[in-house]
Amino acid sequence: MRDAGGIRRALLAWYDANRRDLPWRRSRDPYAIWISEAMLQQTRVETVIPYYERFLDRFPDVRALATADMDDVLSVWAGLGYYSRARNLRAAAQQVVERYGARLPSDAEALRSLPGIGRYTAGAVASIAFDRPEPVLDGNVKRVLARLLDLRDDVKRSDESERLWAEAAELAAGPRPGDLNQALMELGAVCCTPRSPDCSACPLSRRCAARRGGDPESIPLRTAKRAVPRVEAAAALLVRGGRALAVRRPPRGLMGGLWELPGDDLAPREAPARGLRRALRERVGLDVGPLRKAGSVEHVFTHRRLRLHVYCCEAQGGRVRLAGPDAHRWLAPSGLARLPQASLTRKALELLLQ
Ligand code: SF4
Repeated sequence: MRDAGGIRRALLAWYDANRRDLPWRRSRDPYAIWISEAMLQQTRVETVIPYYERFLDRFPDVRALATADMDDVLSVWAGLGYYSRARNLRAAAQQVVERYGARLPSDAEALRSLPGIGRYTAGAVASIAFDRPEPVLDGNVKRVLARLLDLRDDVKRSDESERLWAEAAELAAGPRPGDLNQALMELGAVCCTPRSPDCSACPLSRRCAARRGGDPESIPLRTAKRAVPRVEAAAALLVRGGRALAVRRPPRGLMGGLWELPGDDLAPREAPARGLRRALRERVGLDVGPLRKAGSVEHVFTHRRLRLHVYCCEAQGGRVRLAGPDAHRWLAPSGLARLPQASLTRKALELLLQ
């Protein structure tokens, strides 16, 4: 990269004057920085802040997380999405206790050997917490570097991505690598935004090839988004003797380890009530009496838009036999809300309480 030293100086001076005051930036604790980086993946800063504060209150250090009950971890994480991050955090904390005496390693390679820590998170923790000259490359940094260098190829291609990692590594190989990385990410978040970048306020404007070209917004190349499929599902507040059935999703996969009302996705063109009776028979082994519809709720996941039809019903005897969920509980209906659950289940319970 031409004039890497000048770019570094401009970025650091801009960061010193413009950095947002975020809770994890007030800490030098590698554990706190690691938690923030795990939460910030695919998630907006404003969303993360209250979760970060609650999580650190509840699990203030590696040992507290390593010995935590998984239901407690998922309860604090509930609503933040991508639940494998929470499971990986606890698994990684256990390894940090066993292998490193409860101190996070400072070396990026050692960090990458831990569950859930990839190239980006390892670089972020090593540089921000330990001042190691390691690069980071998230969506914001990719966009800033692609524009700075006027790269018009698809940055998702592996050779282009490797080129950007190399450019980021060159920038990180100077003073204050942690601040330098945060400056790049911050610039992408607040100034070099996907639409209408604010080039007049940018510390790199004199050096930016895309700005000189006159159309920075066209970089990076955007690939057409695939349409999000729409899925219908049905679930029930299934009661027996005044207690309601909750089932737990298996640990791997979408919303893994979280509790929900029993039910399932509907087959194409399957009527919700009919599909629900089938699902309850197949997945929890129970036949039910009349179904009363409470309404429906919607939730948008990254890969699908789901409409959940919600019913109330009573079990007609028989024992629970699970096929799909890995655990079940009969609880007073008011106790359902205390289980770790995804936003979709919370919406269904709110509907039932209305
Ligand atoms: S000058 Fe504009 S396009 Fe170039 S890095 Fe700055 S904000 Fe982005």
